[in-house]
Amino acid sequence: MTSISRRDLMEAAAVTGSLIVAASGSNAYGDGAQPQFGPGPSVLQGKELPSFRFDFGAQKPRTSDGGWAKEATVLKFPVSEKLAAVLMALVPGGLRELHWHANAAEWAYVIKGRCRVTTIDPEGRSEVVDFNPGDVWYFPRGHGHSIQGIGPDDCEFVLVFDNGYFSEFGTFSITDWLGHAPADVLSKNFGEPAATFASFPKDEVYLVKGPVPPPLPPEPVPGSLDAPALSHRYPFLAQRPQIFEGGTLRLVSEREFPISTTMTGGLLQIKPGGMRELHWHPNADEWQYYLKGKARMTVFGSGGRARTEEFSAGDVGYVPQGFGHYIENVGSDDLEVLLAFNSGLYQSISVTAWMAANTPLLLSTNFGVPQSVFATFPKGETTMPD
Ligand code: MN
Ligand code: MN
Repeated sequence: MTSISRRDLMEAAAVTGSLIVAASGSNAYGDGAQPQFGPGPSVLQGKELPSFRFDFGAQKPRTSDGGWAKEATVLKFPVSEKLAAVLMALVPGGLRELHWHANAAEWAYVIKGRCRVTTIDPEGRSEVVDFNPGDVWYFPRGHGHSIQGIGPDDCEFVLVFDNGYFSEFGTFSITDWLGHAPADVLSKNFGEPAATFASFPKDEVYLVKGPVPPPLPPEPVPGSLDAPALSHRYPFLAQRPQIFEGGTLRLVSEREFPISTTMTGGLLQIKPGGMRELHWHPNADEWQYYLKGKARMTVFGSGGRARTEEFSAGDVGYVPQGFGHYIENVGSDDLEVLLAFNSGLYQSISVTAWMAANTPLLLSTNFGVPQSVFATFPKGETTMPD
């Protein structure tokens, strides 16, 4: 009997695909056929999986006296099609100017230092909120915002955007717009003499340094009329984590942080020798920033393809939606990884739980080994209870 593997079928399909290319000349999938991953050829369709690691530390930042920023987008990290990121630092008084993003929502985690955020939403509601290390913010796509370091030390944070093609250096900044509007229009708009705008910047300011603003007045009592309906701030580190055998996991989805409708954040800690078990996410890509320690991640991509890479502090990792993966702590210290998913709903399926949900008879048939083999297997997802 000849057995046909899925790999053989995939290779046959690939040959058929190339014949269609030859026949149609322009459309790799032929008329009416559905592409496997998207409109263009995907980096995930090759015989070998692409790299899931990006050396963020080696990227050159854009600097000014207000701070610095560097980005990780699909242009340099081809697999990261759904999520892009920026690492930014602001000196005390350093201001990331008033701006918005037309093509992405912004999720952030403060690594160190303190900063003040101002926002405005389409209902005209505004917020001014101070952020501390371990805090998360979320700005829906298109909402106006600014970020300023408030000292005493530099403030460093990671921004994650739910669009891999996003670029921090192509956002909509207030100086860029006003600098490219005629003075008589600005005069009409603001009811001020045209001469008022003569000394306004002509180009985008992006990052600028000013005085450290004074402390905020005490926050309004929650539930009072002054309190905003949707706060932009979530104190992530204050959350009690889920505990598993090898470490802990915190999650901040729309459930915990209602404004965060398109993204979920995670903070994963794994003890030396511990592992985040084999699992996948049915509904989202996973973006990772390695904060501390040494890790080894393996990504399984079907068709006999699996890729293992090592990560250390400052590296970015990525797992496409539905791709299997596991993360091992291979260092002698705790491993800490920041996670971001491009869905407000967190979904995960573990291989352990999946197997436990099936009978030993089925597993025996599936794996071709006696049923007794499975007697001592875990009876559910043991290492990551939800
Ligand atoms: Mn922004
Ligand atoms: Mn995962």
